[in-house]
Amino acid sequence: MKAKNPPSTSNFVKVAIENDLESGAFNKRRWNGKPGTLSEHQEASLDEAKIRTRFPPEPNGYLHIGHAKSICLNFGLAKEYGGICHLRFDDTNPATEEHEYVDSIRESVKWLGFDWSHHEYFSSDYFDRLYEFAKALICADLAYVDSLDADQMRLYRGTLTEPGKNSPFRVRPKDANLMLFSEMKEGKHPDGAHVLRLKINMASPNVNLRDPVAYRIKHGSHHRTGDTWPIYPSYDFTHGVSDALENITHSICTLEFEDHRPLYDWLNQKLLELGFLQKPLPQQIEFARLNLSHVILSKRKLIQLVKEKHVEGWDDPRMPTLVGARRRGYSPEGLRLFTDRIGVSKADSWIDYTILEDCMRETLNESSLRKIAVLNPIKLIIENFKSDYTEICHAPNHPQKKELGKRDVSLSRELWIEKEDFSENPSKGYFRLFVGNTVRLRYGYVIKCTGFERDKQGSVKTVLCEYFPDSKSGSPGADTYKVKGNIHWVDANSSIKAAVILYDRLFATEHPGENGDFIADLNTNSKKTIEVQIESSAAEANKGECFQFERHGYFTVDSSSETGNLVFNRTVTLRDSWKK
Ligand code: ATP
Ligand code: MG
Repeated sequence: MKAKNPPSTSNFVKVAIENDLESGAFNKRRWNGKPGTLSEHQEASLDEAKIRTRFPPEPNGYLHIGHAKSICLNFGLAKEYGGICHLRFDDTNPATEEHEYVDSIRESVKWLGFDWSHHEYFSSDYFDRLYEFAKALICADLAYVDSLDADQMRLYRGTLTEPGKNSPFRVRPKDANLMLFSEMKEGKHPDGAHVLRLKINMASPNVNLRDPVAYRIKHGSHHRTGDTWPIYPSYDFTHGVSDALENITHSICTLEFEDHRPLYDWLNQKLLELGFLQKPLPQQIEFARLNLSHVILSKRKLIQLVKEKHVEGWDDPRMPTLVGARRRGYSPEGLRLFTDRIGVSKADSWIDYTILEDCMRETLNESSLRKIAVLNPIKLIIENFKSDYTEICHAPNHPQKKELGKRDVSLSRELWIEKEDFSENPSKGYFRLFVGNTVRLRYGYVIKCTGFERDKQGSVKTVLCEYFPDSKSGSPGADTYKVKGNIHWVDANSSIKAAVILYDRLFATEHPGENGDFIADLNTNSKKTIEVQIESSAAEANKGECFQFERHGYFTVDSSSETGNLVFNRTVTLRDSWKK
């Protein structure tokens, strides 16, 4: 059945949800959690949620922009259809998971603008129940303990073109299985000695159904359960069951899990038949993961970048992590706009990084106050301006938002201007400063260039000019001056020195790692620090605050800044500098 009026931003996930809402597929839901184990809030939310989605990160690294897509999708759908989105930490691997990651994941989801309210869960909270289910599956002859070693298991599994073979342990009697499984739980066997496998079909064309592993022995301390468990359930055994226990309606995941869906359905169906779960069961829907040009979106590889010190930590502004994006000055609004704009599809593709940057420009243009900064300063001396005199000019804080008013910027005899705003040998069409030419000092006077001076190395050090006293912006005489150039400047008497860090792509190639080692594709020039001059009103800027530096782009005060020692990250240029 097709949805009658799919909204214009519809996609196949929304169509599936609308069909389910229309057919009432999820109307009669009951919580699958153990009776009496639900909190008051969970009980209360049972009936109020029309759909239930979840964002299920494994706490083994920091979230990245790919995760942002999944977060916006899951939380966004819940919001749009009157549902609830759970935050579930999929923590079934003691070796790689840490509490530091749990905290940072919570922070990042909140920063993106989403709220899971009381619905925070951990797969490790279900360990007792999962163990109970595993025993029931053994009793129902649907699981067995296998004692092949890892190499043998691989040989027995077959290949994509050849069926697998039954393990000799597949026929182990139930009681022996129960006893061994219980010994595994008591820690009597070393890592790798046995595994618990689901008994499905070793000849299945889908390798995921060839008796997948449900439990492994892993002696290691878990970030929440400590040393309680020497055995841990596999992702496939845990994930779908956790969805069902939490009464998830639509379990949205990335395409690589498409071939796992028959297993997801098989397991929940068997647990339903055994009386542990109730209808309706959750359904898994897959979408294409985000691939972003010039970017790596794999936690394993991001960890390598940090550990091998190719970057300065998880929140290095060049990193695609959400903590890195935040430090760089990317806005949560921009990331949400980006995920909306790229949409949801069923086919893998690469998204151009410039689309993300455009979304940042759009949102930052709206929210950022304006400041004036000279990034590559040379002196400008107004020779007919009194030396001990300072004049106040007025610059709008936001040209599209008159209500934000204007700020004072001082002007005196010596100013800083951009080196590139003066030319000794101007080419045709160059309208800025050259000897004999007139330009406007933005928000100030019209000036005429009268000469210049060089330093010992021969580079231009100082530009000389005269100003026209009746040409001040906003004054009655201003309009009588017609000039083609309009340059920005700061007052050398009051401007402050600051550091600006200019970033380029972290990887020099569009699809890093495509031809082998992704480390070899790192851009060796991805970061450059320059010393700049900024108008004095920027002195009070707070960490994390983002400004538009006129004519340059968006710049955010870095977390390493201190009073009197400001450091700005260039968040994004004003225009796409990659189009050239
Ligand atoms: P990685 O490959 O970086 O290790 P992962 O999928 O193993 O990522 P999880 O913590 O398991 O990391 O991911 C949580 C959720 O985010 C999953 O539902 C996953 O499908 C989704 N996700 C991860 N990477 C992307 C991506 N690039 N685009 C969209 N969704 C993603
Ligand atoms: Mg994963």
